[in-house]
Amino acid sequence: MNLSLIPADLRPIAERVESRQRLSDAEALQLFRSDDINALGVIASRVREQKNGNVATYILNRYINYSNLCLLSCQFCAFAAKKRDAHAFERSIDDIVAAVEESLSSGITEVHMVGGLHPTLKKDWYLDLLHRLRALDPQITIKAFTAIEIRHLAQRIFKLSIADTLAILRDAGLGALTGGGAEIFDAQVRDELCRGKESAEEWLDVHRTWHKMGGRSTCTMLYGHIETLEQRVDHLRQLRELQDETGGFTGFVPFAFEPQTTILAHVKSASAVEQLRSLAVSRIYLDNFDHITAYWVSMGLPLAQVSLNYGVDDLHGTIMEEKIFHMAGAKTPQEQTVATLENVICEAGRDPVQRDSFYRHLPRQRPTVAPATPAVESELVCA
Ligand code: SF4
Repeated sequence: MNLSLIPADLRPIAERVESRQRLSDAEALQLFRSDDINALGVIASRVREQKNGNVATYILNRYINYSNLCLLSCQFCAFAAKKRDAHAFERSIDDIVAAVEESLSSGITEVHMVGGLHPTLKKDWYLDLLHRLRALDPQITIKAFTAIEIRHLAQRIFKLSIADTLAILRDAGLGALTGGGAEIFDAQVRDELCRGKESAEEWLDVHRTWHKMGGRSTCTMLYGHIETLEQRVDHLRQLRELQDETGGFTGFVPFAFEPQTTILAHVKSASAVEQLRSLAVSRIYLDNFDHITAYWVSMGLPLAQVSLNYGVDDLHGTIMEEKIFHMAGAKTPQEQTVATLENVICEAGRDPVQRDSFYRHLPRQRPTVAPATPAVESELVCA
């Protein structure tokens, strides 16, 4: 690391990072408060380089939201609906299976599926859905359900322990847990934003249980609403502690709150600098995480590309159909092509590599059907 690019007040932190020492919460807070975004990028890039060299990854995946009916009404959520609401939806198993089947020809390796806390769907519906998706392609990873969905299924639907519920879902085809629902762990923030949702301990316990069964998951942080910087650091600390305990998190995916169509529409959106700062501090502080993902759905692909110089080593995936952020007002596209993802990685001077759900590198796959816009494939800027 070129220490001459680091201001004097951050140099002790940079030196500790260089020698791979763990940062304290106070040091993370100091980084969050720093105005020197370029210095944060230099330090975060060093950690990223130590862990991932010059590689930046992406995944071919398909998002599915099976329903937005939800028993809860979290303040930041524009996705959830009650049955009477005009924007309520519920997809049939046949419809979901047909959508995934169509995407298989694009070479997807993952189905990413979440929904609300559905008031009436039965145990057999969930298991039938998993069985049918698994039967479509035994190789595909079904990454599904947030921790709060797992608790809902365990307590209200399956009426079993978290461990027994996870075991049944795994046997039916569940391959990985999603990281959603973590929001900000602080109890006061959760009480104001999402009363009735699981506590931090309960969120962490679902992931702990899954990890101890040999499962893997990602984790998230929804920031830029009512939380303080101290509460962001506290959130990161709790994730780092669970990772010390289980090693089960494959990657961390922070995203900024999208206020436009939510009850919190008055909240100012996180700026580009704030998003880069949050990614960089996360990369530096979470020393036991191998991967930091930029979620282009919320931040936009141009900023996600820039974030490759602020600690990010993964640009998430093709996605194909996203509802949660778009119903909250996101103006980003619904999907990205492989060519686009590879191009933005190449333009940033990094080596693009396709990955699976567990961030393992894959040989690049060509879709078995011609892309809708063939010219895009021939416009790759790297060989
Ligand atoms: S964030 Fe999840 S649990 Fe909360 S209202 Fe939205 S769908 Fe329901």
